Amino acid sequence: MIGLIIILAAIIIAVAVYADRRKRKQEYKLPATTKQLLSDNVPFYVALADKDKALFELRIKDFLANTSIRGVDVEVEDLDRILIAASAIMLIFSFPDWKYNNISEVLLYPGTFTKDYSTAAPDRNVLGMVGEGAMHREMILSKPSLRASYSRASDGQNTAIHEFAHLIDKADGETDGIPEYLLSQPQLLPWINLVHETINEMKKGYSDINPYGATSAAEFFAVITEYFFEKPEQLATHHPELFAMLEQMFHPQGK
Ligand SMILES: [Zn+2]
Repeated sequence: MIGLIIILAAIIIAVAVYADRRKRKQEYKLPATTKQLLSDNVPFYVALADKDKALFELRIKDFLANTSIRGVDVEVEDLDRILIAASAIMLIFSFPDWKYNNISEVLLYPGTFTKDYSTAAPDRNVLGMVGEGAMHREMILSKPSLRASYSRASDGQNTAIHEFAHLIDKADGETDGIPEYLLSQPQLLPWINLVHETINEMKKGYSDINPYGATSAAEFFAVITEYFFEKPEQLATHHPELFAMLEQMFHPQGK
C-alpha cells in the first residue's frame, strides 16, 4: 500500500513538474527591445527579408524558452540573451525543424577562463567552451568575447558561432569536424579530404584562416564556420572550394 502511495505521489509530482515547464515555455516572452537589438547588432538578421525576420524572432524565442542563460559573477543583459540566441539560430536557419537537443544552459562568465572553468587562474585564455562529462549540456561563453564578436562583426571571429558550430558537430555523437547532419553521404569524403588539405596548408603558414583551426578537424570546422558567417565574400574569393561546401552544408538547395 505504501509502495502504491509513493508511486502515485511520484507520478503526480512528475506531471506537475512537466506542466510547470510547459507553462513557463508558453509564457516566455522576448524582451520588448528584441527587434531593435537584432537590427543594431546582428548583420545576418538585417540582411533577411521581413517575413524571414519574423521567423528568426520566433526561433530565437523558442531557443530562449528552452535554454536558460545564467550569469556567473556577471549580469546577463537582454543584449546577451539576444546575441547568444541569434548565434545559435543563424547556423540552423535553413533547417526549419532543427532544434538544439544537446544544450540546456549557457553560462556567461565575466571574462576568459581555463579549461577547468577557473576565472582566476593566471593562465586563463579560453573564450568559450562546450562542456563535456558532467557539463555536457552546458556551454560557457565569456561575456566580453560575446560582445566583441558582434561589435567587430566582420573580423571573421565570433566565439558564440564557434561554440554552436561545435554543438552541431557534436549532434551526431562525435565532435570530430564531420557534421554528419549537414553532409550527404557522397559529400563526406570530399569534406574530410578538403579539411586535411587546408589544415596542411595552414601548418605551412599559407593561409588567412585563424591558425587555431589547424589544431584539429573539430576546431577547423568551428573556425571555418565563423569565417563563413562573418566574411562570406572573402571566403568565396580566397577558398572557393571550402565556400562551396559550406554553402551546401548550411544553405542546402538554395534555402
Ligand atoms: Zn573550439
